[in-house]
Amino acid sequence: MTSAQASPATIVEAKGLTKAYGRTYALQDVSFSVTQGERVVLLGANGAGKTTLLRLLAGLLRPTEGSVLLWGTPPWHARCRAQVGVTSHASYHYEELTAWENLRLFGRLYGASNLETAIERALERVGLAAQAREPVRTLSRGMQQRLAIARATLHRPALLLLDEPETGLDAAAQGDLATFLFPNGEETAVIATHSLSLGLTLGRRWVILSGGRVQYDSQTDGEDQARVEKNYQMYVVHGGR
Ligand code: ATP
Repeated sequence: MTSAQASPATIVEAKGLTKAYGRTYALQDVSFSVTQGERVVLLGANGAGKTTLLRLLAGLLRPTEGSVLLWGTPPWHARCRAQVGVTSHASYHYEELTAWENLRLFGRLYGASNLETAIERALERVGLAAQAREPVRTLSRGMQQRLAIARATLHRPALLLLDEPETGLDAAAQGDLATFLFPNGEETAVIATHSLSLGLTLGRRWVILSGGRVQYDSQTDGEDQARVEKNYQMYVVHGGR
């Protein structure tokens, strides 16, 4: 008996994405797709366009040109939002509410199932069980980042869009980041990071941006680690020189 193997579903489809701010091109003509189960790490120097790309994929920014579809639908549609987990530079917590209350509010918004249990598990996973009833304003920066990760993963999103998820985390938490972010081990994710070593650990595919353009994509340009490191040196450390 022969079994035809279905190719993985396309989750992200970006075509000709360009974002201009006046004369500044934050992103120029970026096209790429992400299939189910892929973990794409975005690498690039400050200003390379990583945050812009993630915000476009999340539907938080509209492109100047080009298009983004998630599961074939524009990302700002409510149907997509409920299936996406996001961490960004800002944590967006309600400072006066406790860690638990923040998660409950967010979980209700996105219709997370078995919410009480999901909150408990999420807080436990990121090492915040003891701080569950503390107001967020009393939590350290790293603890607030752990909470941001708990919030992004609470509703078991099918796609994670993560902007520097390691920000503020101590060495132990950085070591546990894969467990924090990918409890099932099969999550699809696009992750921007400034840490090459973390990027190599978290990713299965690596994309390097420079000047708002994709300069290297391991999927098409060879994905052995040495090649990623060589391109990282060229485009991120030495600015393409
Ligand atoms: P970093 O590593 O510093 O976070 P990045 O790779 O995420 O950088 P972006 O934040 O995407 O880079 O910025 C890309 C370019 O777009 C930069 O030149 C930046 O100054 C510009 N830019 C981003 N947001 C705006 C804005 N709101 N107005 C004007 N220019 C912007």
